[in-house]
Amino acid sequence: MKFPLPLQLPEGHTPIITQHFGVSTEELEPAGPNGEPHYHYGTDIVLGTDHDTYGAALRLPFPVGRINQYLQPTQGMQNTPFVQLLYPAQDGTKYEIVLAHVSEIEPAKDFVYGDIVAKVGNLGLVYPQPNLKDPYQGAHLHLGLKVNGAWVDPEQYFDFTKWFTGAAPTQQDQLPATNWLITELLAIIKGITGTN
Ligand SMILES: [Zn+2]
Repeated sequence: MKFPLPLQLPEGHTPIITQHFGVSTEELEPAGPNGEPHYHYGTDIVLGTDHDTYGAALRLPFPVGRINQYLQPTQGMQNTPFVQLLYPAQDGTKYEIVLAHVSEIEPAKDFVYGDIVAKVGNLGLVYPQPNLKDPYQGAHLHLGLKVNGAWVDPEQYFDFTKWFTGAAPTQQDQLPATNWLITELLAIIKGITGTN
């Protein structure tokens, strides 16, 4: 069992992954100064059109959590603002969820499962860029996840076929198998290439 997707799905919509975790093939995300490939530290998700996606509620997918910080655009995140949510699980695992490009965010406080923490937006490095003609253009959610400080593939931890069912997941449901070697290697790569 995996965490439910933090995205509230409007009626009749399913989440569409537009970019997976891993080495990026997007022209928008060029190779680094030494030719190293751009690494995408998260999963990009849309809900049909930009209009469907923009403003969709982002809800806490963990039993409890806290907004750690709302980070202003930084070079490492390709000028993309994002919010971090912390969930220290009872087994000692530290989950850190990153929601990027958000349009609205709740003030820092403690949240419980299902609370709205932010809304999907299109700030930062999105394509196409929003403009006066279509301010919703490029809306998507960049969903990132760190487990004990290392970036992992969100698709291994979140169930992209559903969101909230109304009941919090049980503790034993929350521990998908992790290849720790891979996550450590990714952390090293991340140190070289930065993140987006
Ligand atoms: Zn992304």
